[in-house]
Amino acid sequence: MVLEKNDRIGGAMCSHAEDGFVYEEGPNTGSMSNPELAELFELLDLEPENAKRSAEKRLILKNKKWYPLPGEAFSFFMTPLFSLSDKLKIPFEPFRKKGNNPDESIAEMASRRIGQSFVDYAVNPFISGIYAGDPEKLVTRYALPKLYNLEQQYGSFIGGAFKKSQEPKTERDKKASKKVFSAYGGFSTLINRLGEKIGYENIMCNALSIQVEKSQDRYYVNLLHNGKSFRLESQQVISTVGSYSLPEIFPFIDPQDMDIITELRYAKIIQIAVGVERKAVSDDFISFGGLIPQKEDRRILGALLPSFCFEGRAPEEYTTFAIYMGGMRHPEYIDMPDKEIEKIIKEELDELFHIPESSICFMKIYRHPYAIPQYEKSSGKRFEIVEKIEQENPGLIIAGNLRNGIGIADRVKQAFTIAENIQ
Ligand SMILES: Cc1cc2nc3c(=O)[nH]c(=O)nc-3n(C[C@H](O)[C@H](O)[C@H](O)COP(=O)(O)OP(=O)(O)OC[C@H]3O[C@@H](n4cnc5c(N)ncnc54)[C@H](O)[C@@H]3O)c2cc1C
Repeated sequence: MVLEKNDRIGGAMCSHAEDGFVYEEGPNTGSMSNPELAELFELLDLEPENAKRSAEKRLILKNKKWYPLPGEAFSFFMTPLFSLSDKLKIPFEPFRKKGNNPDESIAEMASRRIGQSFVDYAVNPFISGIYAGDPEKLVTRYALPKLYNLEQQYGSFIGGAFKKSQEPKTERDKKASKKVFSAYGGFSTLINRLGEKIGYENIMCNALSIQVEKSQDRYYVNLLHNGKSFRLESQQVISTVGSYSLPEIFPFIDPQDMDIITELRYAKIIQIAVGVERKAVSDDFISFGGLIPQKEDRRILGALLPSFCFEGRAPEEYTTFAIYMGGMRHPEYIDMPDKEIEKIIKEELDELFHIPESSICFMKIYRHPYAIPQYEKSSGKRFEIVEKIEQENPGLIIAGNLRNGIGIADRVKQAFTIAENIQ
């Protein structure tokens, strides 16, 4: 039985279709970075919607101007995003010494290997795009384990990435790719199909005040549903909620252990879906979207352009933007009134994309107070404690994004691993 406190399943993933527009409350895209995700689509008999080629162009803001992230050698040397001295040092990256501080932050590691201008105008906006986080605080081995392992195993990002690409791949490995995807009609298509596959008779939405009791080798799950109390008995309980919900659900877990888990900080994100007249958007912006480095000191983190990447996201004469605010840069924005957010979005669209207010046809504001967990230094201890709790409580699995990664692909991989391990 799946228990969900909301009146719908899907959590952060939720699409809306209105007046010919399709827009998301949460994630707009994912990356097909592991085979499990491709297999989930196969299991659900669903085609992922791969992003169009325009999504390969990604913009970075510098001095109020957008520049494409360079993809090949010539544009790399011409781009004003990075300093000449850092560019000239890149060929020597494979010869730099390996780091020996396992708790090195992403910013420290990147500055050591590739130079500060890359940290400021590539790593910082990239981390903002994934974690809405601070690269000075995120620890590489937890937050970007693949990157960390490139240095540890191969001694270099560039050399390691090349060697890894040459390694033989199994048929299963080949299902993973760098492809950016969504689902036709938005991510709710995936969620709805998942709901059908699980069977809605096995899902209870509006399950409130969930509290689990443990008695010998059994768990008793108490909850309220439509004003009635329910008590379910099970040998196994799997939690996929965020760390903030765990103390209430599992009162039998040692509070000292729980404190370590709830130390986890989350980026608070506001996502604003905006519909804009197509004629007001310059063709220069036909791209995945743009990210804004912290140094630029803007009030938005960046903007995606979903209707340039996927079909059917806007009527022909319109474009959609998904704009992000807040994150670890501005956690206080989550409490900002809608009117103020709308004012900022109008000003930023005007200043950064030259879009006049008169071209904006709608704006929807979605707040995510627990959007993205930050895999900071405390993560190692959290992972250990979760394992200890699971060993002490056979049949209990503490999953979700407090461990095993933060993206859609990570969540699906974790689900596959759990499904393989439970009887
Ligand atoms: C704005 C935003 C943008 C994102 N962009 C991307 C992206 O571009 N690419 C990417 O890969 N990932 C992205 N993500 C992350 C991605 O959305 C998550 O990895 C994924 O959706 C998390 O799924 P989840 O089920 O682990 O958690 P959630 O979606 O948070 O679901 C947790 C569920 O638990 C329920 N719950 C919580 N407490 C209780 C309780 N006490 N009782 C019962 N139920 C409870 C909640 O109601 C919710 O339904 C983004 C996330 C956000 C918020």
